[in-house]
Amino acid sequence: MNEAKYLIVGGGAAGLVAAITLEAAGHAPVILEAADAVGGRLRTDEVDGFLLDRGFQVLLTEYPEVKRYLDLDALGVQAFRPGGHVHTRQQHFRFADPLREPAQLFRSALSPVGTLQDKVRLAQLGFRLMSLSPEECFEHVGDQSTIDYLWNFGFSEQIVERFFRPFFGGIFLEQQLRTPAAMFRFILKMFAQGSAVLPARGIGAVAQQLAAKLERTEIRTGVRVVSVADNEVKLDDGTSLPARAVIVACAPDRLFPQLAGDPTRWKSTTNLYYYSTRRLKENRLINLVADPTSTINTFSVLDEVAPTYKLRKQGGSLISVTLKESRDGDSLAQAEQDLLRHSRLPNDALSFLRRYDVKHALPQLDSVAFSYDPTHSRLIDRVFLAGDQQLNGSLDAAMRSGRLAAEGALRT
Ligand SMILES: Cc1cc2nc3c(=O)[nH]c(=O)nc-3n(C[C@H](O)[C@H](O)[C@H](O)COP(=O)(O)OP(=O)(O)OC[C@H]3O[C@@H](n4cnc5c(N)ncnc54)[C@H](O)[C@@H]3O)c2cc1C
Repeated sequence: MNEAKYLIVGGGAAGLVAAITLEAAGHAPVILEAADAVGGRLRTDEVDGFLLDRGFQVLLTEYPEVKRYLDLDALGVQAFRPGGHVHTRQQHFRFADPLREPAQLFRSALSPVGTLQDKVRLAQLGFRLMSLSPEECFEHVGDQSTIDYLWNFGFSEQIVERFFRPFFGGIFLEQQLRTPAAMFRFILKMFAQGSAVLPARGIGAVAQQLAAKLERTEIRTGVRVVSVADNEVKLDDGTSLPARAVIVACAPDRLFPQLAGDPTRWKSTTNLYYYSTRRLKENRLINLVADPTSTINTFSVLDEVAPTYKLRKQGGSLISVTLKESRDGDSLAQAEQDLLRHSRLPNDALSFLRRYDVKHALPQLDSVAFSYDPTHSRLIDRVFLAGDQQLNGSLDAAMRSGRLAAEGALRT
């Protein structure tokens, strides 16, 4: 390959959308991906007749970039029910979202998730966010943390501990809720106006659908880029590729010595999968564990939402568990005991399938943004940055950053 082309480092959602954007402008870019397949953090494995996502993840249908790039019907998406099933030490109860399911208003009003005032405030916040655009969710809150925002809004400790901490702790992958409030507002708006879904063939199908749109892009997997200059990229096998421009669609700090002092910080997560011979009917709800003595943050019965996760249509249930802390290398006996306790399944019903320790799950960002001008993605002359770490830790941000980096590169 001697012709200088647009080179894209990384074939996650950001890199794939960058390629789609460059193709739409008439180019034939090259994606250089270190792993054995594209997808990045959107990968699904087939294990013992089950689809297992590499880390529990939901697709939010309301994301603007999801609407722009994904065909949700073709993905065969299946929705979780709004709200959650809350497990405290003493109680188990359903918390319905009255904004999404008005018929559940009475049930919601009586739910012990919080005080009546909390529910009124939650409705007020929901309506306020629905009147804002996604961009506006990021404005006028500065770098205030989610937890400070919740206290300032007047929510009680009861609803913070029973709903916000397990729910958003699971989304942000951090229990302290230090994530900027702008992100909280954006995500709550997305949940209030759209659905949390699973694609029929697993979260990896999102990346596969993006990759399938590419007609003229060369995808090279199993090649690690070791350095980037504005007209050349070096690979780990010692070869160099000439570049018309480069889009770095992964964390850039290892590729540029000038960024080494300010590396991307990451939040990690541990996700466990179990098969239960006894069916666990959970009504398509996410289970939120509001019990400080438990190691578990959330668990979900995936096949209740998307039956296709059980490839052989076997009986029983496929359960995905996300731990509160990433417990790389720890014994998981406690997590299994906690799951039995919360799910009330008999001891002999569970068999362990697989664990995923995802070290680089979400970027840890002190400030977040919805978008920026494409020129903002330029690092040096003909090198542009993409990836969720550029904006905020979400699939929406990953896709938008890929599009903006490509638009920036096209202006060179
Ligand atoms: C467990 C988990 C749960 C999540 N939950 C949600 C959720 O519920 N909602 C949501 O919106 N988002 C969620 N996310 C985040 C979402 O998945 C990411 O924001 C998005 O997939 C990031 O895409 P990306 O292209 O920016 O990065 P990545 O997917 O990380 O892609 C980067 C790619 O670059 C490759 N690469 C890295 N270095 C090199 C190199 N030197 N040479 C060549 N290739 C290289 C990597 O192999 C990778 O394929 C979750 C993520 C995880 C892991």
